[in-house]
Amino acid sequence: MSDTPVSMLKARNPRTGEYDFRFETAGTAEVAAAGQRLRAGQPDWAALPVEARGERLLHFAEVMLDHRAALSAALETDTGRRRVAGLEIDGLAASIRNWASQAPGLATGGWVAGRSNPAIRHAPQFIPYPLVGVISPWNFPLTLSMIDTVPALLAGCSVLIKPSEVTSRFAGPLQDAVRAAGLDQQLGFVLGGAETGTALIGACDAVCFTGSVATGRKVAVAAAGRMIPAFLELGGKDPMIVLASSDLEAATDAALRASVLSTGQACQSIERIYVQRPLYEAFLRRLTQKAEAVRLNWPDIMSGDIGPIIFERQAGILAHHISDAVDKGAAVHTGGSLEHHGGGLWLRPTVLSGVDHSMLVMSEETFGPILPVMAFDTEEEAIDLANQSEYGLSAAVFAGTLEEAERVGRRLEAGAISLNDAALTGLFHEAEKQSFKLSGMGGSRMGAAGYQRFLRRKALIANTARPAPLAAFSEDAP
Ligand code: NAD
Repeated sequence: MSDTPVSMLKARNPRTGEYDFRFETAGTAEVAAAGQRLRAGQPDWAALPVEARGERLLHFAEVMLDHRAALSAALETDTGRRRVAGLEIDGLAASIRNWASQAPGLATGGWVAGRSNPAIRHAPQFIPYPLVGVISPWNFPLTLSMIDTVPALLAGCSVLIKPSEVTSRFAGPLQDAVRAAGLDQQLGFVLGGAETGTALIGACDAVCFTGSVATGRKVAVAAAGRMIPAFLELGGKDPMIVLASSDLEAATDAALRASVLSTGQACQSIERIYVQRPLYEAFLRRLTQKAEAVRLNWPDIMSGDIGPIIFERQAGILAHHISDAVDKGAAVHTGGSLEHHGGGLWLRPTVLSGVDHSMLVMSEETFGPILPVMAFDTEEEAIDLANQSEYGLSAAVFAGTLEEAERVGRRLEAGAISLNDAALTGLFHEAEKQSFKLSGMGGSRMGAAGYQRFLRRKALIANTARPAPLAAFSEDAP
């Protein structure tokens, strides 16, 4: 691979629109050097008992919380939101505590007698990938840089992270905490865009990628070229089915929260809502009322419900999806146009009706606070509509009883189905789930597999009897 030169990039502040963060990108030589340093630190790290690695990570969590002021200030500037930035920091500390307590029980096993030949025993050994590369997106910069990193470190890997070039400010304070906790021989950062990401895939032994389907395809191809595993967590177009038996207040609360939290910039956001006809009009009215009450966190970041659109290019996609829907006959009940405040770009929750699957807003990932609502008559029809998507990240079903919701949920083609709530994978990480269709590839990042996938299984196979001679396989053997 040729050595790409170091260059400078600028990142935009989503609240002011100013490109006020300049940083040097890492070329292939810097990425390779960072990789070598982390590889050198990995064998001693892997030689520690998992409990000792857990202790070191728990110490890192404390140090990170000591660095909270700088980290949250940088995250706030990266994302234009305050409360979620705090939740990302607390969530990381909680995730370290969870994994540190669970990991010792997740890769165990001694000698087992063979079933086909009782004289042959086998035992597993768990070998971490020396260097895991993590490539993350801009929507939850800290969470999605660390979600795979924590279990990989606990498994005994070193990790090199490349955060999104759109939101890289947080990496500086996080790196300070890593250094202060003495983890810098195991955990490193390289900044940059696509070229740095490509270089990272060239330097690591397994790659965890979170981002768009388009980039995920490139990552999968590059990883295949190196014959290394790629764990891909990609986009979604999550449907929510609301049966007529649902509690109106609960269903509209869940739909609104799951669609507009973090300004809809979440992979597991609800992006399509299907409501059974007897409830449809009341649902649309109530959802619109609730959407109208949502406040921007402008001008005061200390108040309001939703922040600005982080990535300027995303704002163009939101506007395009709305105009495409309106041109094809959709009605806008509230919201509907981008707002400019203080240089930032904002979209209030936008409720649409009269939508169908010919519209982009019902077929392509929108990644914004847009709630298209469509009526259906039968459960069969709702299941069919929900499954009519090239994505299969997650989905939600609301009903009067859990039994009804479960009946529908079991037939949906997606990796995680929230019942009588929505987007629960953003709040609950204990259940193993994989991404279906174009939404991803590889083992679950949640539940026990989220740790176990960083350990390669090696088998020790011992014969307690005499080895078979070649004669046992001769053509004229008895
Ligand atoms: P993106 O694909 O544009 O970029 C993601 C990362 O890939 C960035 O760090 C980018 O610099 C890097 N990159 C770009 N080109 C590359 C290449 N050729 N090789 C290696 N790395 C490269 O995605 P984004 O716009 O930052 O994030 C939004 C997307 O992420 C949405 O589609 C969203 O659904 C998805 N996402 C998925 C999950 C999930 O868990 N499934 C979670 C959050 C976000």
